[in-house]
Amino acid sequence: MAGNWEQLLSRFKELQNFGSAIALLRWDQEVMMPPKGNQARASSMATLEGLFHTRLTDPALGDLLAELSTDDSLGPDQAASVRVLERDYDKAKRIPEPLIRELAEARAIAYQSWTQARSADDFSLFEPHLEHIIDLKKQEADAIGWEGERYDALLDTFEPGVTTAEVEAIFSELVAGLVPLVERVVDTAGERPEWLSQPFDEAAQESFCRWLVETLGFDVVGGRLDQSPHPFTITIGPGDVRQTIQTTSSSLLPSIYAAMHETGHALYEQGIPKDMLELPIGQVPSLGMHESQSRLWENLVGRSRSYTDFLLPNVKEHFPQVGMISPQDFYQAVNWPQRSLIRIHADELTYNLHIALRLELELALFRDQLEVSDLPQAWDDGMEKHLGVRPDSDADGVLQDVHWSSGLQGYFSTYTLGNLYSVALFEKASNDLGGLHDDLRKGDVTRLLGWLRDNVHAHGYRYPASELARQIVGEPVGSKPLLAYLTAKYEDLFSA
Ligand code: ZN
Repeated sequence: MAGNWEQLLSRFKELQNFGSAIALLRWDQEVMMPPKGNQARASSMATLEGLFHTRLTDPALGDLLAELSTDDSLGPDQAASVRVLERDYDKAKRIPEPLIRELAEARAIAYQSWTQARSADDFSLFEPHLEHIIDLKKQEADAIGWEGERYDALLDTFEPGVTTAEVEAIFSELVAGLVPLVERVVDTAGERPEWLSQPFDEAAQESFCRWLVETLGFDVVGGRLDQSPHPFTITIGPGDVRQTIQTTSSSLLPSIYAAMHETGHALYEQGIPKDMLELPIGQVPSLGMHESQSRLWENLVGRSRSYTDFLLPNVKEHFPQVGMISPQDFYQAVNWPQRSLIRIHADELTYNLHIALRLELELALFRDQLEVSDLPQAWDDGMEKHLGVRPDSDADGVLQDVHWSSGLQGYFSTYTLGNLYSVALFEKASNDLGGLHDDLRKGDVTRLLGWLRDNVHAHGYRYPASELARQIVGEPVGSKPLLAYLTAKYEDLFSA
């Protein structure tokens, strides 16, 4: 009879294999599947997810974890692995089976009603379904359990160990610093350069993105790059990390910067050490830490003056219509600040204000201070307060994001946590390495990627994300580094 640890590993292997099959079905659904295959696919995935849940909540696994959690002979990575799997087990165990099924069904219906409501620009089509989702998510949070407030349980799903109180404190500092900065900067920027919204050949965009992701270190033998309606990155299993891009004929920069973003996610997944991938700690610790890597490559590298200096001649070669633009003008263009209505098109400066609004609204909903029927009004008021613009349609307002229809309440803050971590980590890397911007000006990312591999990727899920960041940077990561970085960058770029 195999020892407890070996038994745990073989059960974990089985869970991983289920996970791989589910991930592959999901990738195929987004990238390859013909539209008519949707219903059968949803059914296959529900079956596999049900099996996964049954295996994860097997009481025999619980017994094994209970024994191993008091076993002093385990090494630190083994003990951390037991903690990680125990967390998943406990959480899955607490949510009653009927609630899981009801949520899955409600999500599918809400998602459909959301797409209809958005194209009809009519929130009332989505309203009853969102009400149902919020009600079920409250039940889910109460089933999982919480100490401070209900929203903690939702947040903890995406950002283990981080509390609502912590996140709220970070956002209140950020908003206080960003709103006046936006006031100072945006109105001095003037007219948006015209070439930003000119047509660009899509095949040329795709081949440029292919070149770019490889230049940044994406291993194409251990991954793929395809097109999909929404760019994303997914790991099928060891040696198979897939990312997608989306090109549109109406502009150039969105595809390029989304490719850098997804490459950041993919490099992280490809950077988890091979021998760690067999263990429960062989994964990313949180969505915020995942996002720190995508944002670091997209913004700290991709939108820096040094890297845009490297990028510009290559852009000109592929896209002659960009014309005689100067390096300074190009650098400004990729950082153009705008009071925009749509989060996914927001620049670095205003992005976190879009997130602040979503967090405020979610908190109000889960604290029973806001009714779903009052959401559109609250959304528009919040946009005016934070960004100084008011949507004139629900489609460009409260209906713009997919998250709420998919039951992803608690998710949004991880984007901003990722931004905070990205700045703190990049600054530490710059200090440790010295001369980093000289590397970037030549397009050489070897030393930076090596630093991230050693300091971030190599740890997998040994520690919670905030703890990992604290260990690397030497202090808890709050709002200050991000605010200082954005202030310096934007005051330099667009000073009157
Ligand atoms: Zn991302």
